[in-house]
Amino acid sequence: MKAEIISIGSELTSGKNLDTNSQWLSIQLASMGIPVGWHTTIADDFDANLEAFGIASQRAGLVVATGGLGPTQDDLTREVLAKLLKVPLEFHQPSWDTIIEMFTRRNRACPDRNKVQAYFPKGAEPIPNTTGTAPGIWVKVNQSYFAALPGVPREMKSMFDGWLKPKLIGMGMSQGVLIQRKINTFGLGESAIEEKLFDITRRGNDPEVGITASDAVISLRILAGAENEALALKKIAPAEAIIRERLGELVFGVEDEELQDVVHQMLQKFGKTIATAESITGGLLASRFTKVPGASARYLGGFVTYTNDVKKSALGVPAELLDQFGACSKEVTLAMAEGCRERTGADFALATTGVAGPGDLSPELREGKVFVALAWKGGSQSETNQWFGSRHEVQSRTAKMALNMLRLHLLRELKHG
Ligand code: ATP
Ligand code: MG
Repeated sequence: MKAEIISIGSELTSGKNLDTNSQWLSIQLASMGIPVGWHTTIADDFDANLEAFGIASQRAGLVVATGGLGPTQDDLTREVLAKLLKVPLEFHQPSWDTIIEMFTRRNRACPDRNKVQAYFPKGAEPIPNTTGTAPGIWVKVNQSYFAALPGVPREMKSMFDGWLKPKLIGMGMSQGVLIQRKINTFGLGESAIEEKLFDITRRGNDPEVGITASDAVISLRILAGAENEALALKKIAPAEAIIRERLGELVFGVEDEELQDVVHQMLQKFGKTIATAESITGGLLASRFTKVPGASARYLGGFVTYTNDVKKSALGVPAELLDQFGACSKEVTLAMAEGCRERTGADFALATTGVAGPGDLSPELREGKVFVALAWKGGSQSETNQWFGSRHEVQSRTAKMALNMLRLHLLRELKHG
């Protein structure tokens, strides 16, 4: 049995809005062990809807549609369903009462045109909507069970969780659970990571382990299907242990955790502060630090020092260093970090320089050549790397590289007391 998800709305097919309902519903269904075979998106057009509903009802065991339940002319879902089923629309008094009540509670008069929302194809069951006006529709069409939910994401989600999910479980449609664990790494490329995990990422393994790359962050996704959650987690645990053992310090977090989140947590643990001095990353590093809720406890502030003059005046980088080594150098990056730490009084300071491109600065300074430096009380260190990518990628990866440098430093400090 496979499910189909249908998203209805011209605002979606025109590209004006992004269809996020399908994504959310697919994840929910997968977690219940119901695989999704198709995503269909349709404009607010009667014939297009009729055709798409017809096709879906022939091939899918379950169809979940969102949108087109509103009170306006372009909301066609209930009429399309009636036409497909060759049945009339019938008035449902309890639904109408609920709609009126909803308006009354908000101190508003209920417009007459909302009355259409209390009509259902004969034989259909209303799905109560506790957060908005439009009730959903539950009906058997051909081979498939058909659930029509509102397009408004908040209403759709609460009706799925509160009504449809329990309904599907009650019908025995949920075939166990499918659970995913995501492990995030930084520091090695996709193929190098794959090499280290060759045996467990082989196709057809159970649990399945996949690799995805997103701007230098390489993630492993462990996917386990089982009868229940506990059994699925039991399958995931040994795979996760192998990944962590083989990748060691490359692993920085799980699920949606980003580098700045774990760095913030570590600084929090140590009670230490950080400041930034950025050239090539132009504020991206500061932006990452300030994304974390509660950042002000750990992130003091930063400098964007793009020209040599500002590197000198704002951070006190010695003119001789700039003359001798040039701005894109280990020496200047270290001086920036040290100057930043002195001026802000932070426990740590990170600095970035490099060639964002496009174009090389010199045969030694090719586009994508970057330097990051970390300074702390009594010491400093620097790192260089050669990225291959667009200007934006080089900048964004360098910001991550700087965060990772601090993460590794804190990790080692943690280990050695
Ligand atoms: P309903 O069935 O709830 O009455 P509707 O089609 O009448 O929906 P619209 O005005 O088309 O309502 O959409 C309501 C809101 O929900 C809009 O902001 C729209 O962008 C959003 N929306 C509709 N479908 C989706 C979708 N698939 N993904 C994300 N947002 C959506
Ligand atoms: Mg719509």
